[in-house]
Amino acid sequence: MSLSAVHGTLSSLKSCQADIGTGMDIVTDVAMDLAEAHANQESAESMEELDEDIAVTQSQVNFTCPLTQVEMVNPVKNKKCNHHYDEAAILSLIKTRHSQKKKCRCPVVGCGNTDVKDSDLIPDQMLRRRIQSYKRQNNRT
Ligand SMILES: [Zn+2]
Repeated sequence: MSLSAVHGTLSSLKSCQADIGTGMDIVTDVAMDLAEAHANQESAESMEELDEDIAVTQSQVNFTCPLTQVEMVNPVKNKKCNHHYDEAAILSLIKTRHSQKKKCRCPVVGCGNTDVKDSDLIPDQMLRRRIQSYKRQNNRT
């Protein structure tokens, strides 16, 4: 094999590596799409099972509202600091603080977000479903 042939092989190997890199990204994306499409095709019944699997694997997630200290009923996520609260509790806290002309600090200990607004809160349906299926599991025992 001539030296130039070796060089040629090397450079094609290199471009091949780059291709593999992007290829992996594409594969991951496709896999995610497939998983989502699959989940969407599931019947309502098996969706429940899926939820319960999620609840089991993520049982470490805190379902407790930092304000009420009980399981959240309508969890909302603060899009600024990613903390969760029960909707009614955080809304009433914001209202109280604002009526005192004060900013509403994120009630989560150690959180640096000092100005929680109701416009920062997004309902978290995913977490809500997880809490519900988690409850169902506990009631079964
Ligand atoms: Zn926070």
